[in-house]
Amino acid sequence: MLGTPHEERFDRITRLAARLLDVPFAMVNLVADDHQWTKAGHGLAVQRTPLSDSICRYPVQSGVRLEVNDLTEDEPFRTNAFVVEDPHVRFYAGEPLSAGGTPVGTLCVLDTEPRELSDDQRALLAELAAWAEAELNNTALNHLVAELHDREHRLQRLVDAVPEGVFLVDEAGAARATNAVAERLFGLPHGRRVPLDTLLPGLSPDSPPFARRRRGDRTGVTRAEVTGRSADGHRFPLEVSVSPLEDAGDDRWLVLARDLSPREDAEAELRRQERLTSMILASAGDGIVGSDHAGVVVFANPAATRILGCRESDLVGKSLHAVAHHTRPDGSPFPQDECPTHRAITESQFVVVHTDLFWRRDGRPVPIEMSVAPIVSGDEVHGAVTTFRDISQRTEVERLKDEFISVVSHELRTPLTSIKGSLSLLTNGVMGPVPAAQQPLLDMARRNAERLGELVDDILDLDRLEAGRMPLRPVETDADELAAQVVGSLQPAAAVAGVELSVKPCGGGATVVRVDPHRMNQVLTNLVGNAIKFSSPGCPVTVSVSRAGDEVCLAVRDRGPGIPEDQHAAVFERFRQVHEPGGARTGTGLGLPIARGIVDRSGGRIELTSEPGKGSTFTVVLPAARETTGGDGG
Ligand code: ADP
Repeated sequence: MLGTPHEERFDRITRLAARLLDVPFAMVNLVADDHQWTKAGHGLAVQRTPLSDSICRYPVQSGVRLEVNDLTEDEPFRTNAFVVEDPHVRFYAGEPLSAGGTPVGTLCVLDTEPRELSDDQRALLAELAAWAEAELNNTALNHLVAELHDREHRLQRLVDAVPEGVFLVDEAGAARATNAVAERLFGLPHGRRVPLDTLLPGLSPDSPPFARRRRGDRTGVTRAEVTGRSADGHRFPLEVSVSPLEDAGDDRWLVLARDLSPREDAEAELRRQERLTSMILASAGDGIVGSDHAGVVVFANPAATRILGCRESDLVGKSLHAVAHHTRPDGSPFPQDECPTHRAITESQFVVVHTDLFWRRDGRPVPIEMSVAPIVSGDEVHGAVTTFRDISQRTEVERLKDEFISVVSHELRTPLTSIKGSLSLLTNGVMGPVPAAQQPLLDMARRNAERLGELVDDILDLDRLEAGRMPLRPVETDADELAAQVVGSLQPAAAVAGVELSVKPCGGGATVVRVDPHRMNQVLTNLVGNAIKFSSPGCPVTVSVSRAGDEVCLAVRDRGPGIPEDQHAAVFERFRQVHEPGGARTGTGLGLPIARGIVDRSGGRIELTSEPGKGSTFTVVLPAARETTGGDGG
């Protein structure tokens, strides 16, 4: 009540007191431990007064009326702020007011003149004080009720925050939902009481888990999984925990109900996923074998047993390596340390093997491609999954394709040679003069026969390179000499194109490399040929040789159209042509893949730097032969 604002019902009393007792000031004051609060004041606007200036605290402490005729004459009041300062009161009469039996304040009247109340006036003051006291107690009650409401509200919020449905079940077996979850779960209107077995069919207060208390068992909470039924008849799985309300005196229970549908749905989903996973594994066309951390097979799918021509029991419990991977194609033993599955587990690495061999149970080999993934959780490797595929068919197709390419190419070469020879006899006039009108046609036929020949050569080269069948005969070769040779042989072509072709040797004998000179000549011829082909007349093409550390570089630089950055990798792929063919720009699109293949196999690499519009530089980087002494090139 302290600190509460003015209320008309108290103002009315102080107004009446002032009028009836003919005083300028009347107040209802409440006294606390450290201050006085004026709940209603007639003639005075004060609200909060320090306890030291409170006159009312005397009647509150004593519990009896205090009347002082002249405050300036009385000891403790003489120096009181209300006496010595404005409004300089002289007279005080205060009746104590109690709330709940304890004095808490006063109804008091004050005057600026000394005076004395008559008996009638005193009786009047006592009457008005009784009225104020009744109002005060009314206020206290209102506060109590409001507080109770507030507590109940907070309690409800707490119960509503419980993630489970909360019920109260009374001794008659009637259940009442007490939170929103319970109302929602059962579609039960707020406050409605329904028989327990309406919500939990088949359960009554006499059945477990409610009956224990009846049998005198007071050991608290009992849990059970039961079926719930909502207002619309829908049934769902529930877990209930029932606790007897100990202070209720009679049989009452608190029931917490948890909807188990989400859990059951999750379990059903898990079972569905498991079925799906095993169906996928069973239907997979690739062999899938799971091994534990020791490499022991714990799972093999039907494709794995089919490819290996064995039963699941031939694999499970054994090592895949011991069963099917023990021997190399040449018949020598395959050490387990080198087995991909073993490496994946011990090195915790994904291992891919494009061609390998497994041995079937009947002793026949089966070519396979496999990948092994370690099963890792945290830092630990728990095993590995080996996936393999029977590539017999693919191997056979590749063999046939290779055979086809080499047969076709060889078969094409022979007739091409005679076509070219005949055409050259004709065009050179060996067979007599060629009529002028026929000359262009014969020239075109010869050019195209030559292109066809180049294409066949390129296809054969690429085929041999990819199959690892291109024989390379490395000998010590001076890159300076190589560059000079190639530039020399292409000078006529450069002259026809109007391109200034030059060579910048390194000199000093520091550019010896170990390569097949014939093949390296082919590489450089291709690069310089491209540089000439893509340069406009008057533009320079330079081949410079340099030494950088342990490497020798042959850089072919032109000022042609350049190659966009995103095409740098593509130009080394087969049949890739970035620029539109036309004019002198003819080609097979195989030159760069062949060049890269030869350089790679020679232990080097080709680097490309280019800026569209400004030109390109293809650099062949080769390891310097050991004997040569290195400089820094130049
Ligand atoms: P080809 O020259 O027979 O077309 P390549 O494999 O030698 O085949 O080259 C592939 C493509 O790379 C060329 O068609 C061309 O688009 C591009 N290219 C190669 N060299 C150069 C160069 N010096 N300048 C610009 N583009 C080039």
